[in-house]
Amino acid sequence: MDCTFCLDCIHACPHDNIGILAEPPGNELWHDSFRSGLGRFGKRPDLAALIVVLAFGAFVNAAGMVAPVLEWRDQVASLLRPRSPLLVTSLSYVFGLVVLPVLMVGISAALCRWFGQLKVSRLEVATRFSYALVPLGFSMWLAHYGFHFVTSFDAVTPALQRFAGDLGSAILGEPAWARACCRPVADWLPRLEILSLDVGLLLSLYSGYRIALTQSERASQALKMLAPWALLIVLLFAAGVWIVLQPMQMRGTLSAAG
Ligand code: SF4
Repeated sequence: MDCTFCLDCIHACPHDNIGILAEPPGNELWHDSFRSGLGRFGKRPDLAALIVVLAFGAFVNAAGMVAPVLEWRDQVASLLRPRSPLLVTSLSYVFGLVVLPVLMVGISAALCRWFGQLKVSRLEVATRFSYALVPLGFSMWLAHYGFHFVTSFDAVTPALQRFAGDLGSAILGEPAWARACCRPVADWLPRLEILSLDVGLLLSLYSGYRIALTQSERASQALKMLAPWALLIVLLFAAGVWIVLQPMQMRGTLSAAG
């Protein structure tokens, strides 16, 4: 998190004092050691807020593309005078990215603090445990964009055609944008997406447990502290599975028939 990998330090200190050391993946999520630039993760609510927005954003972003959610948005928008999909979409993003995370993370932090009889503030508890959401948030982004990558990889053809056209060459022909969308969804694709979510769920639960162990060495106490976070993680996972199983609306793309 501190290092941009510029490797200037190799030149500055060339006497075997600098090394690139391997660590188990995810280690940084539960180790709260001091870092030269960032300090301690547990004292950085700004970083934790970023993590929460990105983790919830994975689910809100994917939910905003599935048919039932879009139908619901259109129904609500039709009730407004004047009809305003923009307003409904904006409000649902504010709800999903700000109101819901603040509520869910706030309640989890309060319960965790109570169960663990922790002396630190709710904000510090929320900051520390938010890092457990990283694997699940990542797995949802991976599942969602993996879906687009597999179903729309043909987009590379018109993109190359346009690139050649922009350079003044007509050798590849006119971009055929309809080709960019939408391959039939193979049976294995939703299974692969759910597998990604499964791995994210397990790693998030494990990260939460390891973070809880940093607050109390007693496993029973750590499990009590983990419980509200585990519930939050499982709810997000369930939402992810539901989203993956819904038909995806390809917004902003042309159908092959078009
Ligand atoms: S100087 Fe070394 S430690 Fe600092 S950012 Fe560059 S590679 Fe990382």
